[in-house]
Amino acid sequence: MVQNYEYFCNHCHYFIETGGPWPYAKEGRGRRQYKNLHEACSGPIHGLIANVYCPACDRGKTYPIVEYGKPLFSLSEIWLSDIPRKTKRVCHKCKNPVFLTLAPGAVRCPRCKKGTFEVWEPLEEDSRQYPVSPPKSPLKVRQKGKSVPVPKPTVVIDSQEHMGYRFERFSNWFAGTIRKRLPIGDYTLLGMENEVIVERKTVPDLVKSIIQERGDFIRKCERLSAFKKKCMVIEGSMACLKTPYEDSMAHPNAVFGSLMAAQERWDIPVYFLDNFLLAEEFVASMLSKYHAYQWLEINGFQRCLIEGDI
Ligand SMILES: [Zn+2]
Ligand SMILES: [Zn+2]
Repeated sequence: MVQNYEYFCNHCHYFIETGGPWPYAKEGRGRRQYKNLHEACSGPIHGLIANVYCPACDRGKTYPIVEYGKPLFSLSEIWLSDIPRKTKRVCHKCKNPVFLTLAPGAVRCPRCKKGTFEVWEPLEEDSRQYPVSPPKSPLKVRQKGKSVPVPKPTVVIDSQEHMGYRFERFSNWFAGTIRKRLPIGDYTLLGMENEVIVERKTVPDLVKSIIQERGDFIRKCERLSAFKKKCMVIEGSMACLKTPYEDSMAHPNAVFGSLMAAQERWDIPVYFLDNFLLAEEFVASMLSKYHAYQWLEINGFQRCLIEGDI
């Protein structure tokens, strides 16, 4: 019964997760989620809780989705259909439907508004044609024959950043994430807000900012250039940027030329990254490694992960 579900947009590769349902018991005014089914076996079970997804808010939420009229005293009663129950599948905030499982093609992606969500599960026989999943193990550092316990950093996400990366797949590298207003850029590391910054752009974002919001784009580049470590991550291939745009008359060469000029003038590396999932992994891996080398240097270690290697 305990299960997590992963979905991705078939157009922009936006990635969401849901999970559950899990039985819970009421405790005073709160709720206690059973840690495992064994514990839940003898109840009481007042309802089922789940991590659901609201496409209108673009948020994952943890809600009770089923409440029983009277508490159940065994797990098996969940499957009996004559127990009175209330089910709630609407968002507490916007009142739109929330989803635990998303039928293929049923829910439109709120990010690109073009694709729909599908189960993220490359077919077994096709899996060799997809990029492999990111590693699950923590960053390993070994010096003088001993492993060095580099602490996990915390990612800071700009609070204005909407439908960007959440880094939930990278708990092996990060202690967690916090959201706060950043004066410039979208992602940085806690305690290193003044030295490292990542600016994320989709291709339509980039076209709009270079063509229609050019003054702002230039001011942004000037401010990014002051950081020790900065980059612009484009969520799309160079082929995509060089192909005439659906929603803009701008000439691709004008956009690409300006982007390359900005890269050289302000020394801001530009990366073309295939899609949402790979771009998120790139940013995660980069921030994790940047932090490790800085931490090693500050703490009197050699600036390498493995002695005699990288
Ligand atoms: Zn999408
Ligand atoms: Zn909502």
